[in-house]
Amino acid sequence: MTIKKKVTILGSGSAGLTAAIYAARADLQPLVIQGLQAGGQLTITTDVENFPGFPNGILGPDLMEEMHKQAERFGTQFIFDNAESVDLSKRPFQIRTSGEEILTDTLIICTGASAKLLGLESESKLMGHGVSACATCDGFFFKDKIVYVVGGGDTAMEEAMFLTRFASEVHLVHRRDSFRASKIMVDRAKENSKIKFVLNSVIEEIMDVKAGMVTSIRLRDLKTDKVQDLPADGVFVAIGHKPNTELFEGQLELNEAGYIVTHGVKTKITGVFAAGDVQDPLYRQAVTAAGTGCMAALEAQWLLEAEEAAQKHESVVNSAK
Ligand code: NDP
Repeated sequence: MTIKKKVTILGSGSAGLTAAIYAARADLQPLVIQGLQAGGQLTITTDVENFPGFPNGILGPDLMEEMHKQAERFGTQFIFDNAESVDLSKRPFQIRTSGEEILTDTLIICTGASAKLLGLESESKLMGHGVSACATCDGFFFKDKIVYVVGGGDTAMEEAMFLTRFASEVHLVHRRDSFRASKIMVDRAKENSKIKFVLNSVIEEIMDVKAGMVTSIRLRDLKTDKVQDLPADGVFVAIGHKPNTELFEGQLELNEAGYIVTHGVKTKITGVFAAGDVQDPLYRQAVTAAGTGCMAALEAQWLLEAEEAAQKHESVVNSAK
């Protein structure tokens, strides 16, 4: 089936749903292709305490459900599927999902970013069973436990500090002896007596897949090549995020880390906008994603209005000839 739309939004996290609320309220009847992780990264978070308007915090999934209802109330249409391909070479832009072809005058890309992983088989098998990429989501389960955090950026420092609220020992494993994290974050982590730094080292294996839980890790010291198995209850991978931009490779300008390059929320293609984490390696907050989602919907609305006015003007001129 072919669906024709003025505004289509890819992704249903904070950016996508905010764009939908704005586009729907402008009577543009937007379509949201939700993606298979509907609601985006906030759906794997527990308490959100920094989204304005919720003085007592709100659960991530609840916040996304409220945003979804708000977008729906003003006439947003949703498809629960992934976009399999997009063709941005001409307008209307074409998007294919498993069952539909969508032709759209404007496209707002809000496909977000995903946590990077180490790539170990044991890591994926034990994900959610002691391995996590989100301390905020899962830290609570590690009361009085031994946990390892991998990474040397701000996220790793922040996650390690957060985990000291629960865990008895937090070991921060970093593959070098200097940090990508800001000095203030490293200093804070170093001042925290519960955090032990394990430098020039990598986790090579996480045990015990057979038992279905984390019992120990295999650590290699990259300087001495010494390998040791150490007891562990949890492993938090905090090595950065990867923007979900594979669909746009070769069609949009991406930076060296794969994020969509935007000016404001405009891409180099007229009518294609990007909002949220897919174009933001720095702030990556629900509220900043919502803000850029709003901006993208307004830009789409203004572009459509300007084009409509130009078309009307042209037909008046032509009929007067
Ligand atoms: P970064 O890209 O900054 O850091 C990733 C870290 O993971 C690096 O130390 C990197 O090591 C390490 N790493 C990458 N791949 C591997 C691997 N395969 N195995 C082992 N280690 C690996 O990501 P962050 O998520 O930490 O930060 C992203 C952005 O968000 C930054 O701009 C950061 O400042 C910002 N941020 C700010 C916060 C704040 O100010 N409160 C909190 C969180 C994030 P190496 O250094 O050797 O490459």
